[in-house]
Amino acid sequence: MKICSTIAEARAACLDARARRRRLGLVPTMGALHEGHLSLVRAAKAQCDAVAVSIFVNPTQFGPTEDLSKYPRQFDRDCRLLEKEGVEILFAPPVEEVYPNGGVTWVLVESLSEKLDGRSRPGHFRGVTTIVAKLFHIIEPEAAFFGQKDAAQLAVIRRMVRDLNFPEEIVACPIVRESDGLAMSSRNAYLTREERSRALVLQRSLQKARQLFDDGERSAAKLISAAAKEVFASEPLVVLDYFEIVDPDTLDPVERISRRTLVAVAARVGSTRLIDNVVLEP
Ligand code: AMP
Repeated sequence: MKICSTIAEARAACLDARARRRRLGLVPTMGALHEGHLSLVRAAKAQCDAVAVSIFVNPTQFGPTEDLSKYPRQFDRDCRLLEKEGVEILFAPPVEEVYPNGGVTWVLVESLSEKLDGRSRPGHFRGVTTIVAKLFHIIEPEAAFFGQKDAAQLAVIRRMVRDLNFPEEIVACPIVRESDGLAMSSRNAYLTREERSRALVLQRSLQKARQLFDDGERSAAKLISAAAKEVFASEPLVVLDYFEIVDPDTLDPVERISRRTLVAVAARVGSTRLIDNVVLEP
């Protein structure tokens, strides 16, 4: 695996990989890798001839009071995991390489960036789309792999790609969960034992929504009331941020579920903010 810490090295390595083979896949991450990340790498391996992974804890997507400085970093372990998966290129630049002069130029997907997580985390999606656009320019992959776990991020990136005519194919990969159903996340490492068990309320609320939907309920308001309000009432130490039923592309709320619909939840368990979602298909 070639480890690149500069943009010039990464460009050269990716040009070389694309010259020798046909299709280069990119998996952007912030590191502290888990099976969720590795599932994206495996999907990229299966669909591409060479795989590049980026590890970059992107400061511009963190708010001033968020966890940028304590975000888990385990670079050596990550390298070993990626090597084992047969990744060809790892791009892991320092912050100064990516934002040498701070940076005043942004890629912003208007409106969508203020929905779901964007509402609770102002500026978050502007940071995400800016770094993903930069990575696309540097790596120039044929396809980029993202987790359905960050469903709003996926919608924002798809829209950026469409609006700005990026050639990259965006591939969404299913949510990987722990055996008890908790969606894997680098932030799960913050949870105490007690918080870890309380965190299951996110998954329980989504399961409740799915069960009511499977039983024939199509009213979003009724699902929200039963799944979010009642289930979260059983776990008062978990603070609900949002529980929304939306169109997966526009992230606009839907009233009745008549086509593919995203049920997304975010909540704070102690000081850790977790997200999860499920897609309902009539
Ligand atoms: P992150 O390192 O948290 O920025 O995540 C990097 C990529 O991994 C994003 O596309 C995430 O959606 C994806 N990802 C994170 N957790 C999971 C998971 N549990 N299952 C599938 N993909 C995930």
